[in-house]
Amino acid sequence: MDFVHESVALGVDLLILGLCVREYVNYKTTAKVLREAPQYNIDGDLKNIVSRQQDKKIPYAVIRGTVTPIGVPLRSSFVPSVSGVLQIVKLHEHRVMRAFAGFWAEQRKMLHESINEMPFELTNQQHGVEIIDAMSAAVLDVDVVYDNYESTSLSFFDHIFGFFTGVRQKGLQTTEQVLRDGSFLTAIGELEMDGQTLRMQPSKQGPLFLTTATKSTLIKRFEDAKSSMLFKIVLCSSISMVLVGLIVRKMYRKKKQEREEAKIRKRLELERRERRARNRPHTLTQDQLCVVCSTNPKEIILLPCGHVCLCEDCAQKIDITCPVCRSKIDSKAAAFIA
Ligand SMILES: [Zn+2]
Ligand SMILES: [Zn+2]
Repeated sequence: MDFVHESVALGVDLLILGLCVREYVNYKTTAKVLREAPQYNIDGDLKNIVSRQQDKKIPYAVIRGTVTPIGVPLRSSFVPSVSGVLQIVKLHEHRVMRAFAGFWAEQRKMLHESINEMPFELTNQQHGVEIIDAMSAAVLDVDVVYDNYESTSLSFFDHIFGFFTGVRQKGLQTTEQVLRDGSFLTAIGELEMDGQTLRMQPSKQGPLFLTTATKSTLIKRFEDAKSSMLFKIVLCSSISMVLVGLIVRKMYRKKKQEREEAKIRKRLELERRERRARNRPHTLTQDQLCVVCSTNPKEIILLPCGHVCLCEDCAQKIDITCPVCRSKIDSKAAAFIA
């Protein structure tokens, strides 16, 4: 194929386009469900409002309140003065790796992650809503309370080893993130009345959010992401169209060339026949004529049987068996009868 490069580029471009469209649809749906989600104050009325709903559930609702632990809050492992309800400690290895074509590229690899959770609720005065499954939130605003990087001192042998394996450690980074108690959050998810307690959990309608942003900021973020995705979609589609155009043009040119070549071949063949017809002796006996068309003289010998029984035109159409003895034709050659 003459347009391999264009086809590969088109394939890659369409793949990216597909991903962009999927992201765009995600952003659009999320922005829409967020806009439609009702916002409630956490107060004495909220239990009654939720209890009146079908299945005692509001599928997607917005509440705002202060993070309050149910029980004794977790202590930060690295900063003792910090306490919270959710603690994520991560250990990353920074390293350089020999990548494509012998270049060294920096990489970050997670070696270990530990998560500590405890039950907590969002409260407003004495009223509260328990948050379930906070770690599954699409947006979870936690504070980085500790971030430490230690570079590794490499020995001579480590350098030698690194040279052969293509991996050299540069350093280790430890981070600790905490969802502090007392922080003021917006939570968006399914609001359910379970017995006498209200709880917010992941919803089927949209992602769970636990964020310091307000509902309108969140909507704006999704709208912005949507617009930038739309721009990428337009860009990818334009590139696809250009590539399709290039492929079509190449195909058209190839077809045109083939057609012209066929035309030339046909004309040459016609001229050859006319020339031969002019040069042919006019008085031929029946056994000097081709056995198929009975018009042209016998001109071709069939091998291996050796029969001279066909004219050049008919020999072009007969390939498999000799019309006289039915033996298989291996090759043909011009016969000159002197
Ligand atoms: Zn013939
Ligand atoms: Zn034969």
